[in-house]
Amino acid sequence: MSRFFSSAHSSLNAYVPGEQPKNCEYLKLNTNESPYPPSPSVFEVFDKFDTSSLRLYPDPECVDFTEALAEIYGLPKDRFIPANGSDEILQFAFNAFADPDNGVAFPDITYGLYTVCCSLYNFKQTLVPLDSDFRINPEDYRFNDRMIVFANPNAPTGISLSLDDVEKILKYNPDRVVLVDEAYVDFGGESAIKLIEKYDNLLVVMTFSKSRSLAGERVAFAVASPEIISDLEKIRYSFNPYNLSRISIAAGAASLRDREYFSECCKKIISTRAYTANELMSLDFEVLPSSANFIFAKHASLPGKALYEKLKERGVLVRHFSGERIKDYVRISIGTNEDMTRFISTVKAILSEANQ
Ligand SMILES: *Cc1c(COP(=O)(O)O)cnc(C)c1O
Repeated sequence: MSRFFSSAHSSLNAYVPGEQPKNCEYLKLNTNESPYPPSPSVFEVFDKFDTSSLRLYPDPECVDFTEALAEIYGLPKDRFIPANGSDEILQFAFNAFADPDNGVAFPDITYGLYTVCCSLYNFKQTLVPLDSDFRINPEDYRFNDRMIVFANPNAPTGISLSLDDVEKILKYNPDRVVLVDEAYVDFGGESAIKLIEKYDNLLVVMTFSKSRSLAGERVAFAVASPEIISDLEKIRYSFNPYNLSRISIAAGAASLRDREYFSECCKKIISTRAYTANELMSLDFEVLPSSANFIFAKHASLPGKALYEKLKERGVLVRHFSGERIKDYVRISIGTNEDMTRFISTVKAILSEANQ
């Protein structure tokens, strides 16, 4: 730390991303990227892109992108805000809607950035324990005096919450924003976008990083009432009015309009997830029911950290978290069928070696 760093940040613990090795020697199942390339229409955007246009700033309103969103989701344009990845929207939203006195409430086991956002802005955080099955219980969210944030499906558990339960949380907190982070919803969850016209406190955040194979492009958006969106726009224009590049705007719009490719990719992931979960269960793993593009699993005798390390030695990267309740698990991103066949045979080799 330099002697100039603000004392306000002296205890800031920044987010720690999953490993991003510079070479390709690993089978990378650790950061929930898609194993499939982006839509062919995104390739076309790059092929036809007018590089000389890069001397000009992009459209701060990202109209081409928000028009595509409006078309695909059947909602007016003023209900969407574009973002450079959903992490950026989370920053904007915490900044805009955290309660000055009571801060933000979210599950004790969830996406690590929520606690980082609180710590960055010195907001109070209420960690609401997941139940013994790692589920969110809506009855634990009767607050109405602080912002509520949860991922649905949750990470790293993969467990989804029904729309009825989401609705309960919205009803228990009519005077505060309820942010639903739907990074993984396309893999089997139910999107709260359906409720957007019914609840003026609902803010849904979505990313192109997982189901649209664009993690490297940084494209995301949020949906809410026009009033919430205009608050978020105020924050966006105060941080970075040109947050989406010309390329991101064009790639995002093209990806959205290729519905067929998108749903094909999601279907393949869902079917490979079922194969992987079944194989793991037959190898004595407990597998949480996943609605995401990853599974969270625990072996009967081999601890999570040991499994993570043994897999890494053999060229397979998964994610291990050291939190007390989840340290026996590993989180495995779903790759192609071939990826997961290789993963399963590597696990078999590790287990048979451990049994010798
Ligand atoms: C991956 C992930 C994000 C971040 O996605 P980006 O759009 O790439 O910033 C947000 N929330 C959850 C729960 C995630 O898993």
